[in-house]
Amino acid sequence: MSSLSLLSRLSSSASPSTRRLLSSSASRPLVDLRSDTVTRPCADMYSAMLSAPVGDDVFGEDPTVAKLESHLASLFGKEAGLFFPTGTQSNLCGLMAHCNSRSSEIILGSNSHLCLYEQGGLSTLGSIHSRQLPEDPETAQVPIDAFVAGVRGDDPHYPRTAVAAIENTHNVLGGKVLPASYISSLGAALAAQDVPLHIDGARIFNACVKLNVTPAELCAGAASVSICLSKGLGSPVGSVLVGSKHVVGLARRARKAAGGGMRQAGVIAAAGLYAVENNVERLADDHQRAEFLCGKLREAGYGIEVAPTTNLCYFTLPDGCALDSGAFADRCKERGVLVGLMYGETFRFATHKDVDDEGLELAAKVFADVLR
Ligand SMILES: *Cc1c(COP(=O)(O)O)cnc(C)c1O
Repeated sequence: MSSLSLLSRLSSSASPSTRRLLSSSASRPLVDLRSDTVTRPCADMYSAMLSAPVGDDVFGEDPTVAKLESHLASLFGKEAGLFFPTGTQSNLCGLMAHCNSRSSEIILGSNSHLCLYEQGGLSTLGSIHSRQLPEDPETAQVPIDAFVAGVRGDDPHYPRTAVAAIENTHNVLGGKVLPASYISSLGAALAAQDVPLHIDGARIFNACVKLNVTPAELCAGAASVSICLSKGLGSPVGSVLVGSKHVVGLARRARKAAGGGMRQAGVIAAAGLYAVENNVERLADDHQRAEFLCGKLREAGYGIEVAPTTNLCYFTLPDGCALDSGAFADRCKERGVLVGLMYGETFRFATHKDVDDEGLELAAKVFADVLR
């Protein structure tokens, strides 16, 4: 029997507990709100992986990888796409493509993932100098005139401004959405100085759904976009960089130096395709659920200020709360609810496809009980 027919037999005839085993592993917390990366593939995603045609993608022979890359390129209105195992590698190689000569500089937000959480790979691996500008915490935007003023003049004292980057949605500033008007104006202002714009779009589909615009509309002002399939979209792995053929060609070269390509990667690209085809519209549910949970935190009456815009929410316990942050997280965990504790005092929760209404009711109840 082929593995495919085995899986379909298993999932169609299986008991509910075997079905659960197919889509998750044995010991899981009841509600894991630490990140939207903790999702597990559903049975249909597994069967898409099992039935995917594959080939050696380093030879350019994997039809599933090619399909994923061209599908995302066309969704985003760009010429080409390139598959990566991670968003970190996709960002790095995309930016190395733009910064393809010595003494290149990037302008980016000081609270960006690129700046804070990618180990400074831009400098250590990409030889790219970074100029970091603060975002407005309300809008998660670096003002356009600040970006423009940051572009270097032609002077041997300076690095050469080769690219600028923004993040949409903006993780650390609370899942905030940058609108198409900002991106197109910024893209045009930078293009006038010959500086391309890159979007770290780890959660770009959350932004599209929130704004009700297509990826191509939202990203029209950008030269390249890095898209994560493994966040809210629910793929176990994968990111895609989209841009012009020229930029993607240079990124492919950079990818070789940054660890190389993958071989029969259609096995995982199929999960990404499944995610893009099936899990985009449901992101609106995650946004609604984040709203619901924040409402519960506000209702708990401890003065916790929380206002999510998409699927991420950051909060801190109010002054005078009897619990410290670590104790709050531990008590929630004892009762099966995991929240992320970031930077010492700040919590993050993320809603995602593996948390349903029942899970959220439980989380809300646990939060309220623990705070009581
Ligand atoms: C997760 C994330 C990345 C990197 O993705 P990985 O796949 O974890 O390497 C980049 N940018 C943002 C905003 C992210 O949230």
